Amino acid sequence: MSDTTGKEVTRRGFITRVGQGLVAANLAGSLLKNASAQLTVPDPPGKKLGWAIVGLGSLSIHQILPAFAKCEKSKVVAFVSGHPDKANKLALRYGVSPKNIYNYQNYDSIKDNPDVDIIYIVLPNGMHAEYTVRGFQAGKHVLCEKPMANTAAECQQMIDAAQRANRKLMIAYRCRYEPYNREAIRIAQSKELGPTQMIIADTGFNIGDPNQWRLNRKLAGGGSLMDIGIYALNASRYLSGEEPTEVNAMTYTSPGDPRFKEVEEHINFQLGFPSGLLANCTSSYGYFPQSHYRVLGTEGRIEMDPATWYTGLRMRLSRRNTIEEREFPEVDHFASEMDHMSDCVMQNKEPLTPGEEGLRDLKIMMKIYEAAQSRQTIKL
Ligand code: NAD
Repeated sequence: MSDTTGKEVTRRGFITRVGQGLVAANLAGSLLKNASAQLTVPDPPGKKLGWAIVGLGSLSIHQILPAFAKCEKSKVVAFVSGHPDKANKLALRYGVSPKNIYNYQNYDSIKDNPDVDIIYIVLPNGMHAEYTVRGFQAGKHVLCEKPMANTAAECQQMIDAAQRANRKLMIAYRCRYEPYNREAIRIAQSKELGPTQMIIADTGFNIGDPNQWRLNRKLAGGGSLMDIGIYALNASRYLSGEEPTEVNAMTYTSPGDPRFKEVEEHINFQLGFPSGLLANCTSSYGYFPQSHYRVLGTEGRIEMDPATWYTGLRMRLSRRNTIEEREFPEVDHFASEMDHMSDCVMQNKEPLTPGEEGLRDLKIMMKIYEAAQSRQTIKL
């Protein structure tokens, strides 16, 4: 009895499971049919502008060149490099014609190449001004990596060269072209969490090889502030929507560390803004990788950690009784910024982060160094 009942139950169970399986299979089939009915096949690309990459180092190889696959308005067509073997190998990978490979000596002849519309400067900071100005003299538009240059005077030369050539100049502040930072700006400036009282931003990493250009003053312009602290400074400005009016700073460099013969290791700085908002920032070549900011409003807090890395950004919003994790589709920062530049050239629009934006950061960074040296509050 129990056996029969058991069998019946088992059979019934089996039938039920098979039935469910069939239902599931039918459902899956109809979902698949619907999915294929809804599948949108991407349009063929529209017009893409031609880009020349100047400097085939780590950023170009690992981030910028792969990003072209995700661009809608930009394609890589030329390289400028001091290493022909590397350039030829990358040309094969990315379909760049060998006739479009230049070196630093014949770079200026790029003016005769109609394939190239925009030049992307990805060289050590101390070379940005020269190669940007030469790019404008060749009649091209220029996207230049951050920091814009070593000095404010060089930044001004770059802006003037763009104006003379009637070409666009954009600085590669990639965080302005991805959804997390854009949402943080929107929330902070909409006062959804009350007026912002303070911003706390920490950006740094533990730098390696003592012989790299980042530790050479002539090529880097300074230490951690120029390379990575600039993210904390720029974020304080874009999150507040204000320009600082005063600055305090303090540096520390480990004595005898062979990496820091010419540039600072740590630098902490504070910014005062017209509304009374204060920013507290740290920048380091000595601590474990950090890219973090908090925007503290009267009614809540935005926390981004990591805030400025290439991928994996996270945003947390805290209010009185809730903590909310906000997620956005991951966007390739470099594809997005390059397409923005191409779009500005095509539509004759001013980039979101023009040369003047780079110049503002440079001027403030020089005052941060001055404040650290004098141990005085500097008015801007
Ligand atoms: P890198 O050292 O990896 O590459 C620098 C390139 O410049 C190399 O190809 C090198 O051969 C070339 N070069 C030409 N002349 C040189 C010289 N005299 N000394 C040293 N190198 C010389 O550096 P990178 O990390 O690719 O940085 C390049 C630029 O990009 C810098 O301005 C840096 O601040 C910026 N960067 C921006 C981001 C970002 O997220 N936006 C990230 C990393 C670097």
